[in-house]
Formats: sequence, C-alpha cells, structure tokens
Amino acid sequence: MRRRGLFGRGKGPTTATLAEVARRELADPRLIALLESHALAYGFDPRRAPASAAVLPYMEQTFGSWYVRGGMRALADALYERCRARRVEFTFGAEVTRIVEKDGRAAGVELAGGRLAEAEFVVAGIDPVQLPGLCAGRDPWGADAVRPDLGPGDRATARLTVCLALRGARPREAVHRTVVHAPDRAAELAGVFGDGHGLREPCARPTVTVLRPDDPATRPDDGHEAVTLTATVAPHGPVDWYDAEALAGEADRMTDVAEAAVPGLRERVLWREIVPPTESGPVPGPALAGQEGRFLHPGNRTAIPGLYAVGGWSHPGGGPAHAGMSGAIVAGLIVNGDDWRGST
Ligand SMILES: Cc1cc2nc3c(=O)[nH]c(=O)nc-3n(C[C@H](O)[C@H](O)[C@H](O)COP(=O)(O)OP(=O)(O)OC[C@H]3O[C@@H](n4cnc5c(N)ncnc54)[C@H](O)[C@@H]3O)c2cc1C
Repeated sequence: MRRRGLFGRGKGPTTATLAEVARRELADPRLIALLESHALAYGFDPRRAPASAAVLPYMEQTFGSWYVRGGMRALADALYERCRARRVEFTFGAEVTRIVEKDGRAAGVELAGGRLAEAEFVVAGIDPVQLPGLCAGRDPWGADAVRPDLGPGDRATARLTVCLALRGARPREAVHRTVVHAPDRAAELAGVFGDGHGLREPCARPTVTVLRPDDPATRPDDGHEAVTLTATVAPHGPVDWYDAEALAGEADRMTDVAEAAVPGLRERVLWREIVPPTESGPVPGPALAGQEGRFLHPGNRTAIPGLYAVGGWSHPGGGPAHAGMSGAIVAGLIVNGDDWRGST
C-alpha cells in the first residue's frame, strides 16, 4: 500500500505547495490560516512556497521558540563580549568595498578610504546578492550553484514593525505571542504579493503578530508595558513606504487588529515607533526543499578559494540560529578543508 505523504499525489516529490497541503489535509479554515501564517511570517507566499514549509510550525510546536531576555540587543552584546574574550578585533563603521584576491584566492578586504586588511580567509556576512559587486567582476558563484538572485522567493515582501509604549501594567496572564489572522485571506495575499496586475493595495485587516514579552528590561517600570506588532507587507516600490501617511495608516490598521489580543490597546498607547520596510529590508527565510530549488539559499563555499558566505541569506537561511549554523559550517570548512561535510 502506498502511504499518502505530504508531497505525494503522483506529481513528483517536490511540486506540492503549502496551500495545496493545507487544502488537502485541513478542513477548518482557522487551521489553514495557522499553517499558512508560518510561511507568511517569513514573507513566503503559501500558494508558491513548497510543502516542506509545513516543517516550520511543526518545529515550533514540537521544540518551541526562543526569546532573548533584554531583546535582540542583549544577544549582540553577549556575542560581542564573547568575541572580545577570544581576542577578536572589531572595526566598526567600516564599509568593505572590495574583496582582495591574490594568486586566484581571497586574500583580504579593502575598506572605504583605501585601507587594506590582509587575511588568510574572507568570510562575507552580507547578502550574497551584493557579493559579485565586491569581487571585481569575478563571479563568486559557480555555474551549478544556487544563485542568490533567483531564490529564495521571499525578497518580494517586507516586514513592518510597530513598537508601542503603553501606560498600565502588563497583566500577569498576558500571552507572549498572539497571531491575529486576516479575516480575508485573498485580500491579504493580493495586498502583499500583488493581484496579478501589479497592484498591491494594503488590506484593511492584515495578519498581525502581537508580542508581549514578560521582560522588565524592555519597560521603564511595572506601571508600563512594551508591545511590538509586526506584519508582512508589500516591499517598498509597489507601496511607497517613504510616504509618512501610508506608513501611519498601516500602523493604525495593525494597532486596530491587535486590539483582539490586547483589549483597550489604543487608549493605552503613550508613543509609538514605526520601523519601516525601507529600514529593515526583507526578512530572510529558512532554506526550503522543493519548488525546483527556488527556496534554497546559496551555499557557504564560493567559487573563489578562501572566500565563504555566512548569514541569513546564505545556507541554511534566516534567523540568528540559522545564521549561527552557517558560521559553524564555515568554521568546519576552514578547519577541516572544503571537502568537509559536517561531521568528522
Ligand atoms: C524586520 C525583521 C524582523 C525579524 N524578526 C526575526 C525574528 O523574530 N526571529 C528570527 O529568528 N529572525 C528574525 N529576523 C531575521 C534576522 O534578523 C536575520 O536572519 C539575521 O539578522 C541575519 O543575520 P546576518 O548576520 O546574516 O545579517 P545582518 O544582521 O543583516 O548583518 C549584516 C551586516 O553586514 C553589514 N554590511 C553589509 N554590507 C557591508 C559592507 N559592504 N561592508 C561592511 N559591512 C556590510 C550590514 O550593515 C549589517 O550590519 C528578522 C529580520 C527582520 C528584517
């Protein structure tokens, strides 16, 4: 007997989309919204994302997710201190303008202003789309490699973040994270990914993630609360996110939606800060198998000996955990050689 699997239906193992899986396996539209929202949060269109995206809610439901006490800044500070203890030297505010090559291999970087920093290996922690521009015309991706400009299919969206300072204490029973789903899926997907005619009209009630961490480091005292709202939106271009009115309008809609998770939210707002898509850029998603590799990220080795790629836009994808994994992979390649496959 053939087992009916997530990727089945005789179309080959990798052609089903997340939306097809949702329609086939889940009868309740609320469950479909829950499944699809995990893809949408990464900027993936569930109608195009491979069925392998179903692993995202599975991972979270099974293993949970992390919150860094003190916010992401605390993680950056801890990493910085750890590196200093290991005698890593930092040069801040220095733009790399060129990767220097010697005898066919990466041999250092040139900084804006012309300073050269020689190195045995160069590990580029930038968006790999920018890498060719630093390689003096040499293609850092081999002919057979995953090309950064083709995948992973999530660059066509952005994230809008609204940080709210609220008067009044955070209730003890408040939930850390609530996702308020869009009532009109079609309107939301058209607003984020386009309606097929190039129009992206923000929908009235987008899917909004409401974050209420119980973290004293994020508020001045127990008489106040810090709440963060995020939504996946169309990128700058189809919507003009430099337009203050458009930005404020979307932040207002998100705040209205978030009332479902935080009743009385509007009346409690002391001030807010909007982080527009023009500042934060797209969110790198995890590398996903399927859809002919369009959701894979470029590998950590490049075609230029001594040059490696790490970070959210390289394998195995976005998020600090994955970015850290890419660093561990590159460390393994440097220490054990380019044939290293992840275990010794
Ligand atoms: C709005 C938003 C919300 C997110 N929320 C989450 C979340 O809730 N959970 C989660 O896990 N992940 C989240 N992410 C993803 C996470 O932030 C990224 O995956 C992670 O920051 C990637 O780390 P990175 O080091 O690869 O890249 P970055 O943090 O982008 O660092 C790259 C650095 O390289 C610098 N740089 C670029 N070019 C040059 C150059 N030529 N010379 C010198 N420096 C250069 C840049 O200035 C930047 O500082 C979010 C991302 C965004 C944008």
